[in-house]
Amino acid sequence: MRAKTMEYFDSLIAESAIKIKEEKEKGKKVMGYYCVFSPVELIEASGAFSVGLCATKQEPIAEAEKHLPRNLCPLIKSSYGFAITDKCPYFFFADAVMAETTCDGKKKMYELMADIKPMVVLDIPNSSVYRKRKEHWMEEIHRAKDFIKDELGLEVTESSLKEKIKEHNEERKLLMELVELNKFNPTPISGADLLKVLWGRQFKADREEYIAKVKILMEELKEISLKSDKVKGPRVLVTGSPTGVGQEKVINVIENLGGQVVLQEACSGVKGLVDLVDEDKNPYEALAEKYMDIPCSCTSPNTRRFELTNNLVKEYEIDAVVDITLQACHTYNIESYQLKKEVDAPFIQIETDYSESDVEQIKLRVSSLFELINE
Ligand code: SF4
Ligand code: SF4
Repeated sequence: MRAKTMEYFDSLIAESAIKIKEEKEKGKKVMGYYCVFSPVELIEASGAFSVGLCATKQEPIAEAEKHLPRNLCPLIKSSYGFAITDKCPYFFFADAVMAETTCDGKKKMYELMADIKPMVVLDIPNSSVYRKRKEHWMEEIHRAKDFIKDELGLEVTESSLKEKIKEHNEERKLLMELVELNKFNPTPISGADLLKVLWGRQFKADREEYIAKVKILMEELKEISLKSDKVKGPRVLVTGSPTGVGQEKVINVIENLGGQVVLQEACSGVKGLVDLVDEDKNPYEALAEKYMDIPCSCTSPNTRRFELTNNLVKEYEIDAVVDITLQACHTYNIESYQLKKEVDAPFIQIETDYSESDVEQIKLRVSSLFELINE
C-alpha cells in the first residue's frame, strides 16, 4: 500500500520550481548548491533561497561531454550538462552557486562552471586527521558569508544563523524519525519513495508546507504498518555514491526483485541527517564541526563511514548491503574494498552510470545476492 501523501512528493520538485520563479520575480535571491557539505543554514540565514541543483539525470550528459572527458563520473557530467543547457530550472534561477572541493573531478569542473555563474567554492580539507581542520572550515564559512554579502548584497547575522541552525536541526530530527519508521518489517515506505521525500528537501520552496506533509506522511505510514501483512523480503541498506531522483535504477531493481530498501547511508539518505549542529556554541564553530564530520569518501581516512554503516546495519536489522559506485568515482570505488571488509553483512558493489544499459546485469547480481541470503 502506498501512502496518499506521496502524491505531494511526486510533484514537489516541479511545483517548487514554479514557486521559486514567482519569488524570484518579487526580488528574492536564490543560491544553488550541490553537495551535502554545503552549509545551507548560512545561505538561508542571509534571506536567500537555498536550492539543490540537478545532477542525477542522464539527459544533459551528451552536451557535457563536449567539454568534459567521457570517462568522468556521471554526476559531475550531469551537473555541468544542466548548467550549460539551462535545462535545470534551479540552476537557471540561481543568482550564485555554493560548491566545494570534494573530489578532483568536481573541483576541476567547477572551474569551467565559474564562467557561467558566480561561485564560491569552499576549500574542504580532505584529511580527517588534519589538526586545524575546524579552523580551516570556519575560515571557509566566513569567506562564503563575505561572498554572499558581496555578490547578493545580503547580510548574515549571528541571530539569523542561529535561527536557521535550529530550523535545520528540527528538520533533520523529523526526517530521521521518518526513516526510523522503516525499522518496522515490512517497511511502510519503499526505498524509492523515501528517496523522493529526502531528495525533495533540497528543492522545496516552502519549508512549513514540506514539514507539515512529512508529518502527515508519517501518520499514514504508522497506519500502514499496523495494517500490513507480514510478507518480508530481504532488508537492504544502500550506500555509496549519491543516488538521486531520476537515477534510482538500482533501488528499483532491488525492490522489483522483492527486496526492501530500508534506507540509504549515502548523502541522498541519512549521511547528512544523523549529526545535528550544536545550538549552544558559536554558530560558525558549530557549523564547521558538523560539516567537517560528514563521512564522505573524499575524506581520508573515512572510518566514520564504516562505523555509521555498521551501526545502521544493526539498528535496522539489515540482511545485505549494496554499495553503488558511480563509474570513474575513484574514492567510492577504492573505499568499497575496505567497506566490504568492515561491514558485518552480505555485501555487493555495483559499479554503474546513469544509463539503462546495465539493468539486466544488475538484476543478475541482486538475484544472486538474494539467493545467498536465503540459503
Ligand atoms: S558523495 Fe561526497 S562529494 Fe559527493 S555529493 Fe555526497 S558529500 Fe558531496
Ligand atoms: S560520485 Fe565520486 S566522482 Fe562523482 S562527484 Fe561524487 S565523489 Fe566525485
